[in-house]
Amino acid sequence: MRAFEYVSPNNKAQAISLLPSSWGKTEIIAGGTDLLALMKDDVVSPQRLINLKEVKELRGVDANAQGMRIGALTTLDELANDPAIKKNYPAFAEALKEVASPQIRNQATLGGNLCQRPRCWYFRNGFGLLPKDDSGKELVTAGENRYHAIFGNSGAAKFVSPSTIAPILIAYGASLRIEGLKGKRALPLEKFFVIPTAEGQREHDLRPNEIVTELVLPPVLNMRAAHYEIRQKEAFDWPLAVAAVALKMNGASVQSARVVLGHVAPVPWRSPEAAQALAGQQVNPATAQKAAEIAVAGACPLSSNGYKVQLARVAVRRAILKAAGSAAGETG
Ligand SMILES: Cc1cc2nc3c(=O)[nH]c(=O)nc-3n(C[C@H](O)[C@H](O)[C@H](O)COP(=O)(O)OP(=O)(O)OC[C@H]3O[C@@H](n4cnc5c(N)ncnc54)[C@H](O)[C@@H]3O)c2cc1C
Repeated sequence: MRAFEYVSPNNKAQAISLLPSSWGKTEIIAGGTDLLALMKDDVVSPQRLINLKEVKELRGVDANAQGMRIGALTTLDELANDPAIKKNYPAFAEALKEVASPQIRNQATLGGNLCQRPRCWYFRNGFGLLPKDDSGKELVTAGENRYHAIFGNSGAAKFVSPSTIAPILIAYGASLRIEGLKGKRALPLEKFFVIPTAEGQREHDLRPNEIVTELVLPPVLNMRAAHYEIRQKEAFDWPLAVAAVALKMNGASVQSARVVLGHVAPVPWRSPEAAQALAGQQVNPATAQKAAEIAVAGACPLSSNGYKVQLARVAVRRAILKAAGSAAGETG
């Protein structure tokens, strides 16, 4: 690893005052579980790290009638074991328990999870987010793309958004609070994830002189939600497809729904069409199957990842049934 300067502010104002005006030379470090690996592999080589771990204002969970605010520096393990999260947002708690391993969850933070960089093996080997060869030919299209995107891949970005918890947070309607040298702003979490169109752009709507300070979850009333993840093995592994579903119920019928897929596109991928298909319906294996078919209807697989369409379809169907509390149709 290359040598770097390390600064460790102990309050938010001090941390913000240290933020740079451009990407590259300075990086934020939280738990370090992603950033340090990228530095060891020389994919990023900052000259300075700003450590956020000593900034106490960025930690903790605060739940009240308006919902829940979570500091960006709260660890995934703290969140997975938080009684208010388990009670009010159980599908989020379940998704948290499936992230990585206990050791990583103990160190990794919420902000770091949402800001982590893609696992695309071209990116991780130094070819950039939009990898091309010297002649300008896209490497992913002609190359090893079995884990790449099946949605949102018509441009040069074909990696998949890595956070397993982002889809269920978007399904619950979460928003982010961001602070920087130019002040504060809030945005829905789904708008935080963007598809880069030129090398050098990032996959988050975050400027170099900003940090994520907290996540806000709205209150959940008459809502049933589920997270469903398909992995190659039961032990800790990256998912091949994730589906997150939140159903706002009106008696036995769905009043409105949010359906979000993960690990299938460069951003968490919402399916408003599948959500629309569920509105006004009672959930049963037939309505869940129909919504799942609709959710994957626009998929555009690459040469080696067509299998992910079926995985995404199954994940959506099972997440809908799981959210509705039905075991029917859980197989197949
Ligand atoms: C073996 C392994 C398995 C994994 N499996 C999964 C999985 O199944 N699902 C999953 O979701 N993740 C998985 N991960 C990724 C893991 O969840 C992330 O590495 C972790 O959440 C990152 O958090 P961190 O606090 O360590 O971030 P860091 O490594 O400190 O930072 C990550 C990035 O976020 C930026 N950053 C951090 N905090 C902020 C902030 N507050 N504001 C702005 N920028 C910030 C940093 O600058 C850096 O670019 C896995 C990782 C490993 C090593």
